[in-house]
Amino acid sequence: MKNDMSRRFHTRVITNIIFSAMFACLVDLFLVTNLTMLGEYAVRQGKEGSLEAVFYQPGPVITLLYVLAGIATFSVAFLVLQKKSMDYITRLSTAIQNISEGDLNTTVDVVGDDEFSAMAANLNKMVEDIRRLMDKERESERTKNELITNIAHDLRTPLTSIIGYLELLSGPNSNMSAEMEKKYINITYTKAKRLEKLIEDLFGFTKLNYGKVSMKVTKVDIVKLLSQLLEEFYPNFMDKDLAYELQSNVPAKIINADGNLLARLFDNLINNAIKYGAEGKRIVVKIHAAESTVTVSVTNYGYVIPKEELPLLFEKFYRVEQSRSSNTGGTGLGLAIARNIVEMHGGTIGVTSDLNGTVFTVRLQVDFDINKENFGNPGDRHE
Ligand code: ATP
Ligand code: MG
Repeated sequence: MKNDMSRRFHTRVITNIIFSAMFACLVDLFLVTNLTMLGEYAVRQGKEGSLEAVFYQPGPVITLLYVLAGIATFSVAFLVLQKKSMDYITRLSTAIQNISEGDLNTTVDVVGDDEFSAMAANLNKMVEDIRRLMDKERESERTKNELITNIAHDLRTPLTSIIGYLELLSGPNSNMSAEMEKKYINITYTKAKRLEKLIEDLFGFTKLNYGKVSMKVTKVDIVKLLSQLLEEFYPNFMDKDLAYELQSNVPAKIINADGNLLARLFDNLINNAIKYGAEGKRIVVKIHAAESTVTVSVTNYGYVIPKEELPLLFEKFYRVEQSRSSNTGGTGLGLAIARNIVEMHGGTIGVTSDLNGTVFTVRLQVDFDINKENFGNPGDRHE
């Protein structure tokens, strides 16, 4: 491709040289013939001493003049023929200068099909890439600031009450009953635990989001993983008086994945189903294994999430109004973490919610290959 283009430009320059040389020869021939005729005529008229007579039998000086005239004609013709390319190069160089001075709205028209048009196309692409990169940088700066504000807010809330209760407990007000004291200590403990969970979630999220988690992809039996996970949740199901069901179209299905990350992903989904679907009395985990993909859905019943909120659930810190006001406790990071894990595996995650239940569906590849996957950094995504 590059050679083709350089040949194209080469050919054009060589063609221009040949044209200019031919034109110079013609002009020289015209001059020589006409001036010789003029000299001959002057000699015949007996004006041997006249200026024209010199051209009849030209000496070295006249020959030199012819050569110089030829060179001048060649140069002018060549410059005229090359003018278009020269102008284009000037335009390119002005554009490069503008870009280097920070004007990212600069573009150069792609004219023709040679090295310079390719250069113009590359230049346009480069400017576009820089512009996109800067937008992304700005966006990520904004998200980061938002994240910091949210973190500060979410950390301060439990901390304020911890400090408040500790002040009450350690203050001069010593006539507090042992029962009250125990109550306050319990509240402080619960808040401190909440703070701990928040910090753990944040830590986990930032680590995932900024690609600091290295994946250990191995062969994982997804059916076994989910049944083990559900067993671990048994006390929680009992606690909330929930029945659970695991349905699978295959007894086992081996996929390439990071087992720990998958456990974390489904842990979040099942946790949510228990937390927000307690009134539905039933949770169903369904596995559908096909040749190249495995689809896992986690369904709970009861509360229907409003349609307009569905796309927002996977945003970090987003919590449906109802969950904020009810006392479910949570940071709104669970689903953001879940989405990151799914994307790290090159899969997809979605949610639907209606009277037939709230269904979170994860689709994973069976032959996931970390090297082939454009794994990148989930944090790169515009959010
Ligand atoms: P965290 O998981 O970080 O402790 P969280 O559960 O509030 O906190 P997410 O898991 O990201 O955060 O969920 C975001 C919101 O989506 C929840 O607050 C809840 O309102 C809603 N949600 C999530 N899963 C369900 C579900 N299965 N049924 C109904 N609502 C849900
Ligand atoms: Mg959650």
